[in-house]
Amino acid sequence: MILMNHFQAEPPVLRAAMLAAVERVIDSGWYVLGQEVKRFEQQWAATCGVRFGVGVGNGLQAIEIALRALNIGAGDEVITTPMTALATVLAILSVGAKPVLADIQPDTALLARESVERCLSPRTKAVLLVHLYGQMDAMQAWVDLCKTHQIALVEDCAHAHLASWQGRPSGSLGQVGAYSFYPTKNLGAIGDAGMLVTDEASLAARAARLRNYGQTVTGDYTELGTNSRLDEVQAAILLERLKWLATFTERRRAIAQRYRAGIQQDAVGILSAPTDPKAHVYHLFVITCERRTALQTHLKARGIQTLIHYPMPAHHQTVCADIQRDPLGLKHSEHHANTCLSLPCHPQMRDDEINTVIEAVNAFKG
Ligand SMILES: *Cc1c(COP(=O)(O)O)cnc(C)c1O
Repeated sequence: MILMNHFQAEPPVLRAAMLAAVERVIDSGWYVLGQEVKRFEQQWAATCGVRFGVGVGNGLQAIEIALRALNIGAGDEVITTPMTALATVLAILSVGAKPVLADIQPDTALLARESVERCLSPRTKAVLLVHLYGQMDAMQAWVDLCKTHQIALVEDCAHAHLASWQGRPSGSLGQVGAYSFYPTKNLGAIGDAGMLVTDEASLAARAARLRNYGQTVTGDYTELGTNSRLDEVQAAILLERLKWLATFTERRRAIAQRYRAGIQQDAVGILSAPTDPKAHVYHLFVITCERRTALQTHLKARGIQTLIHYPMPAHHQTVCADIQRDPLGLKHSEHHANTCLSLPCHPQMRDDEINTVIEAVNAFKG
């Protein structure tokens, strides 16, 4: 079976380094928010081109704490996309704010600016931009839009580790960038982990309090926080995996390039490639097909696993039934949800597996 992820096939030296990292933590006798977390926060913030990183429990809470640090809560509106992991929308709901869903561009499935502009209101406090599938696009226009309307730009970078726009890394263009290190993300832990990155010292300090019950370094409780601390074991593992991230990312890009060149199938569409190759890290390689179920069955019969990201736009989820949205509707999101399909694109894929996938897609009788 050609899988969507295959961690067991990773280089043995990486496995050895991870085991040594776990041993290092056990021997240190310090297991939560210690030196490993501090080192990983520094290294990841530097990778993102900003001064501060605040390690948290997961990606959902990274967004949640980012919004709270920005004073976004009850009565406020945050514009985002329905074509995302529901966690993006849940983070907005969990701080008591109101998500407002804008539609996507059909060629990339990224948020469409003209739809976001229709969603703006005097209550809008932020745009929560998702770098879907690992893509960044037109970031200056998003920065300008948010500046013009005096609202925050928050980046959901859960798919976009190492992606950059005109040399500026994901997470460095908004006030805050929120990362998930869930195992299947491009940089993943061996459990849950997350981080928010920012260049604003006061935001970082507030986020560091909020993740740890709301207490200051001196132990004063100045506001109601939560427990969203990062474990030393996960940080130590992530430090080892970070050393491989650039290599793994190049492999994802190489696979994507082979797919783009090799897939010749009238029944299949491929999302547009960014003009700058660094603006896409191919967390997912996504195609579209009107007869998706048939294609998925065809590929499965040839030993190829596929997944759908995402089968249901946020506004079709039960918990979001009466969610606010673009008055003109969310047509492109709905169509994309019905037609998108993610092909295997992970760093351990072999060349013969890539060819097998290409040949299988091309042999589909659309
Ligand atoms: C995975 C993901 C999240 C949430 O991250 P967790 O670590 O699973 O909480 C948020 N947004 C997007 C786009 C994601 O893919």
